[in-house]
Amino acid sequence: SVPLSFFGGIGAASRHGILVKGSNFLEAMNQVSTIAFDKTGTLTQGHFSVTDVLPLQPWHQDELLGLAAAVESQSIHPIARSIVEAYQGDLSKYRLDELHETAGHGISGHVDGHSVIAGNVKAMQAGDIKVPNSQPTCTTVFVAIDGQLAGRIQVADQPKPDAKAAINALQQHGVHQTVLLTGDNQQTANTIGQQLGMSHIAAELLPEQKVTEVDRLTDNAHQAHHRVAFVGDGINDTPVLARADVGIAMGGLGADAAIEAADIVIMNDQPSKIAKLMAIAKHTKRIVW
Ligand code: ADP
Ligand code: MG
Repeated sequence: SVPLSFFGGIGAASRHGILVKGSNFLEAMNQVSTIAFDKTGTLTQGHFSVTDVLPLQPWHQDELLGLAAAVESQSIHPIARSIVEAYQGDLSKYRLDELHETAGHGISGHVDGHSVIAGNVKAMQAGDIKVPNSQPTCTTVFVAIDGQLAGRIQVADQPKPDAKAAINALQQHGVHQTVLLTGDNQQTANTIGQQLGMSHIAAELLPEQKVTEVDRLTDNAHQAHHRVAFVGDGINDTPVLARADVGIAMGGLGADAAIEAADIVIMNDQPSKIAKLMAIAKHTKRIVW
């Protein structure tokens, strides 16, 4: 049987735009000591903009951006959208075929007879494209044309306005590990993680490696009888949401699959609602005893 006040807690949460799919999840929040967060769209706004287009000889900015935008026009990734938005020309002039997108890598295809790959270092390695040894310091889309690196496009996304305060409030609520999980490069992850005051940062993860990472955090937490929550928003986050003790989805712009897999949904996407949820869970418990 469920103590009546947990229903009160679910009601209180719903009045703050937090949908809790069962009283057991509210109860579990009281034991959460580790919260792992997806980066893009969860802690950041999820709207990238192009900050620089840096072609290599013999390519020009416009050609590089055009060919990249042509393949990216077939992707719904927020990075892809920013590249399509930045291109001023007409994309319908390009003939596209053999498009192939790989999660956590990027997208490739044939554009007017050129083979084009747009993605991160992993995408370049998979395509046998040599990239300079220096690691990118911001979110970088490398572009290869006909088997050669042709340049890179830099994109940037901003933290949500309440992200830093949210992480701080969670720490006040006894969450001693706040973990950033991202497929983005290490330096960009470090910059955002440090800016937000997070305790742990794991970068360059493929979607399935996020599952492994949450499993590892869960094994550790369970030894101390603690629990792990994961917060995400994208289609790729669905397996992780399903695996964590408490899966929390950003529901506003989030993918239907993520909302369905989650135990708790934050309707307006504000990370600060998770601290609110912990306060409600604690208060609810106090009423029960
Ligand atoms: P996150 O962990 O931030 O949600 P993803 O798993 O969606 O990120 O993607 C990880 C990385 O894979 C991105 O930072 C980017 O480098 C690369 N990537 C994925 N899809 C694309 C794409 N369509 N175009 C360019 N790069 C991409
Ligand atoms: Mg994501």
